[in-house]
Amino acid sequence: MCGIAGVVGVSKATELTVVLLHDIQHRAKDYAGIASSDGGVNIFREVGPGLAAEVFTKEKMDRLHGNDALGHIRYPTVVDDERCENIQPVVGRYGEMPVAIAHNGNITNVAALKRSIPDAEFTTSMDTEIILRLLERRMSGDFTTDLMDTIGMLKGSFSLGILTPDCLIAVRDRHGNRPLSIAKLNGGYCISSETCAFPGVGAKLICDVEPGTMVFIRRDGFDVKRFAEPCEKKCRFEGIYFSHPASRVFGEGVGRFRIAIGQALEQLFPVPEADLVVGVPDSATFIAIGYAASGRSGTLFPVITRSHYHVGRTFIAATQAQRNAEVARKFMFDEGEIAGKTIVVVDDSIVRLTTMPNIVTMLQQLGAKAIHVRIGSPPIIHPCVYGINTPTRKELAASSLDIEGMRATMGADSLEFLPLEALKTLSPDPDTFCFACMSGDYW
Ligand code: 5GP
Ligand code: SF4
Ligand code: MG
Repeated sequence: MCGIAGVVGVSKATELTVVLLHDIQHRAKDYAGIASSDGGVNIFREVGPGLAAEVFTKEKMDRLHGNDALGHIRYPTVVDDERCENIQPVVGRYGEMPVAIAHNGNITNVAALKRSIPDAEFTTSMDTEIILRLLERRMSGDFTTDLMDTIGMLKGSFSLGILTPDCLIAVRDRHGNRPLSIAKLNGGYCISSETCAFPGVGAKLICDVEPGTMVFIRRDGFDVKRFAEPCEKKCRFEGIYFSHPASRVFGEGVGRFRIAIGQALEQLFPVPEADLVVGVPDSATFIAIGYAASGRSGTLFPVITRSHYHVGRTFIAATQAQRNAEVARKFMFDEGEIAGKTIVVVDDSIVRLTTMPNIVTMLQQLGAKAIHVRIGSPPIIHPCVYGINTPTRKELAASSLDIEGMRATMGADSLEFLPLEALKTLSPDPDTFCFACMSGDYW
């Protein structure tokens, strides 16, 4: 997963971009980069491994000139190489004009597009670079037309920020698969993958970038151009897991959506004998609030909490043994509240089946009487090809085990998932969402 943010026509544009990136840091923790422009012949670029607040030192900030800036945070698949050229934004040229691009998503026809330009030289292994290589070949002299034509060739998932000396361009693929929103900021504008970043810089949300459009943003206003007819396939997992609960994603309040998931899960799979309900922090906190809301299936009590000083990366740790150790260190258990209790443990999803067996074992060791596990999404059976680093099919627990098999593996007394049909019922206009990792219906 990745995140993008940018600022147009505001002094301290780079500082504000760092704040925006910091507020969407939950989307990606491994690399950060900013490109900035002062309207001249160069674009300035600084990148590095780590969190946005760590990467952008005073020395780096001093080199990022101008009132327009575009930033990116990145979470690569497994442990990829540390080459700085694999950090975004990527920078190239359209004739003499510098162009920087930041991308969230995955271009699915990149191999075919590369074959169409066999003599092109690529300096990174990121799909995003294909946009620069295609664009530099067009050169009709009309940048807007050439950019629209290039973007029109891409398939799959892409929310983009494109910085030129003249403007910042915000783009969403015709499926609107990843979020991207625009806000008003101090006499200029800003963009962000998620709306939760806007209040922190004093920005006011204006609108989402509509699927199939590109928005040319300048200090004094913006205009919208359509490059493709919309055919929406918004990532359903943005609401379930990826996005911050304080965001409005695809026009939907994320925290509220998660509460509704929890309520539906409890209606379908109540545990009348439960003493307490706990969400696996932090991702399942709101789903657990929803599950406990009726009061019929136990009281909300956070007997599992998370150390905020733990800097582990459970999901992409290299080996299974490393992942198990990370999980054990990541959580803290309130021993005094656990012994003798029947506990409902709520999580948002099961991927490799690392987190839950460790949690169940720990609760049992601390004397829990019974443990009922409730998951706020359907089983993930298929890999995501749209920019999420889900493992291969073989590593996805639900692709080889049925629900009873997963229950037995984790040692819980019961295990239930939110059924796909129930998730669709909770989704306004479900045909406009992607459920591919759950249903296998790729688009
Ligand atoms: P597991 O432990 O089953 O391999 O993974 C499930 C846990 O990983 C959940 O707690 C979920 O919040 C978290 N998680 C981390 N990254 C991802 C991701 O990319 N997709 C999903 N669905 N869950 C993830
Ligand atoms: Fe989101 Fe799953 Fe679709 Fe990927 S396959 S875009 S994670 S809903
Ligand atoms: Mg989690």
